[in-house]
Amino acid sequence: MNLKNLEKRLTYLTANAIKDYRMIEDGDRIMVCLSGGKDSYTLLDMLRLLQQRAPVRFELIAVNLDQKQPGWPEHILPDYLTSLGVPFRILEQDTYSVVKRVLPEGKTMCSLCSRLRRGALYAAAAEMGVTKIALGHHRDDILATLFLNMFYGSKLAAMPPKLRSNDGRHVVIRPLAYVPEKYTERYAELKEFPIIPCNLCGSQENLKRKRIGEMLRQWEEVEPKRLTNVFRSLQNVNPSHLADTELFDFESLTGAFTPNGEGDPLAEIEQPSLGHFSQLPKPEPETDVSDWLPEEAELRERSANE
Ligand code: SF4
Repeated sequence: MNLKNLEKRLTYLTANAIKDYRMIEDGDRIMVCLSGGKDSYTLLDMLRLLQQRAPVRFELIAVNLDQKQPGWPEHILPDYLTSLGVPFRILEQDTYSVVKRVLPEGKTMCSLCSRLRRGALYAAAAEMGVTKIALGHHRDDILATLFLNMFYGSKLAAMPPKLRSNDGRHVVIRPLAYVPEKYTERYAELKEFPIIPCNLCGSQENLKRKRIGEMLRQWEEVEPKRLTNVFRSLQNVNPSHLADTELFDFESLTGAFTPNGEGDPLAEIEQPSLGHFSQLPKPEPETDVSDWLPEEAELRERSANE
């Protein structure tokens, strides 16, 4: 895919997710968390592009947390953001030393590091009076979290496209929720973003997450639509066909037998109906994003007339 087509695809998917979850509203002041990685650069680009076309007005402020990792190139993000004319703020907090001090040598540091980073960003968001915090997690991050939680946490939970923080003070949005990682990888290459590697800290990559990432990539090679379908299944949940007694009142289900032996013994076994399967996700997102992307409306009209 060339840059023009890829950019179009990315803005389309991003606009879809924003609309489906009502991530952005008129007057929002959005803090865009920029780590220096491919995903956050892509996120900023997408939000800037949509800012020019969206039917609502919103403000963007890029924020980076300098965690004081050794070798962190302090000038790269300020230079880049200044060249774009994007308002930004660089926060400084030495979470690196904290993580090093608290964790034994050789332990994976990412989990604690991320928690400290989140705390610092939330505190800054409150101080800056932003209404939303935008993070660069993409579809494959969401899927990896889903499988991590299933394989190692025995729970069915992923990363939601939009959530309220535990303290109730912030709304976190993930506008790239529909975007496959291969798109952000390619986009970063084509745009030649000044990538800053995350592992300057010297931490080992989280091995479980890495293994799941490899599993997802292999699945995609074998069956390209599989990840799309797994993601769509998160949007198409049927609690009566799972096994959580908190989500569905299984206790109240009673059989169709009557004391005198009448009734159909199979009636109490709920069969998945073909109707349910026919609702399985369609390969392409359906949301009409023509108000966010006016050119989409033109394209649709043109192809309808052809
Ligand atoms: S690689 Fe280093 S900086 Fe990145 S999340 Fe892990 S511990 Fe933090």
